[in-house]
Amino acid sequence: MTILPFNIPPVAGREIQYLTDVIASLRFSGDGAFTAKCQDWLTAALSVDSALLTTSCTSALEMAAILANLGPGDEVIMPSFTFVSTANAVVLRGATPVFVDIRQDTQNIDETLIEAAITPRTKAIFVVHYAGVCVEMDAINRIARQHGLIVVEDAAQALLSTYHGRPAGQLGDLGCFSFHETKNITSGEGGALTIANPAFSKRAYVIWEKGTNRRAFRSGFVDKYTWIDCGSSFLPSEFTAAILLAQLEQAKRFNTERCAAWHRYHEGFGDLEQQGKVRRPIVPAHCLHNGHMYYLLLPSQAERDQTIAKLAADGLFAVFHYIPLHSSPAGQRFGRTHGALSVTDDTSARLVRLPLYAGMDVTATDRVLDRVHAVLA
Ligand SMILES: *Cc1c(COP(=O)(O)O)cnc(C)c1O
Repeated sequence: MTILPFNIPPVAGREIQYLTDVIASLRFSGDGAFTAKCQDWLTAALSVDSALLTTSCTSALEMAAILANLGPGDEVIMPSFTFVSTANAVVLRGATPVFVDIRQDTQNIDETLIEAAITPRTKAIFVVHYAGVCVEMDAINRIARQHGLIVVEDAAQALLSTYHGRPAGQLGDLGCFSFHETKNITSGEGGALTIANPAFSKRAYVIWEKGTNRRAFRSGFVDKYTWIDCGSSFLPSEFTAAILLAQLEQAKRFNTERCAAWHRYHEGFGDLEQQGKVRRPIVPAHCLHNGHMYYLLLPSQAERDQTIAKLAADGLFAVFHYIPLHSSPAGQRFGRTHGALSVTDDTSARLVRLPLYAGMDVTATDRVLDRVHAVLA
């Protein structure tokens, strides 16, 4: 039995060459030539004011929480259907995640529920572009402007996805990307903070450099290198940046390959949807996604769990996704909910993600299509 894994991290080709260049340069720590090239790539591709490489999306979210000036008692509105890092960043500042429900169609935060969740303590909205499909940013930015809130995009899954033609990471004030091996491009562990609102750029460099004015010092703008703000070691080494550059150079190709597999699945499951046996992803016409994920919604949790088990018995690795944060022990301790989160609970119980990776061939997608059809026959 050949095993079909859920994910295979992509290899771009130039990783070793660039690592060799780093070794030859004898510049190993962060913020060197490869970091600059990656940051220039992101700044140009996403048309943002600036971009900073980080050691993960988790650390980019933590930087965003510092930049948003979150403190004890402050509240941040976010979905419960997300990865723990979205909420941890807020909790680490002593602030409270306020979970609202998601939309039935995209599994993204339901923008119509946000306004009612705002209190005098609300400081920010952290949105998540689930499966690389962008949230309804126009409505969210309108609410944020009216209430003076900062908008942070958790764009971990959304590199090069667009909303009305504009790239994720440029749609709010700050954007957070992941280059973990489960994402579309990878440096093993890695991430980036993109800064769309230039008001945040200067302070972001300080936080990134452990709270020092090292950048201004190196550029000759100040004559002393000193501690001026809080910060941490958020920057990756040049080794990470070298691998990331090789991957960024191939990002469009990887996304195109993922989208090809995504569309084969989508066409192949049309009949099952018509028979009411699955629901396929719904992508609004104004959102172009990056093929990050293909998922199905099964009629019940029992059928979902059975499907996962039967596929696994055939060596096909399909997986469920988030346990809603509001129902997790830490979510109950640190967060609160606004309204019922019934769509979140229901989605979490019925969603299954199928194997998808760059370079996935027709044989592999056909194998999954055949097995899912057999299981649900
Ligand atoms: C993967 C992911 C993260 C975490 O990314 P890391 O780079 O592993 O820290 C955060 N949020 C979402 C939505 C993710 O999918």
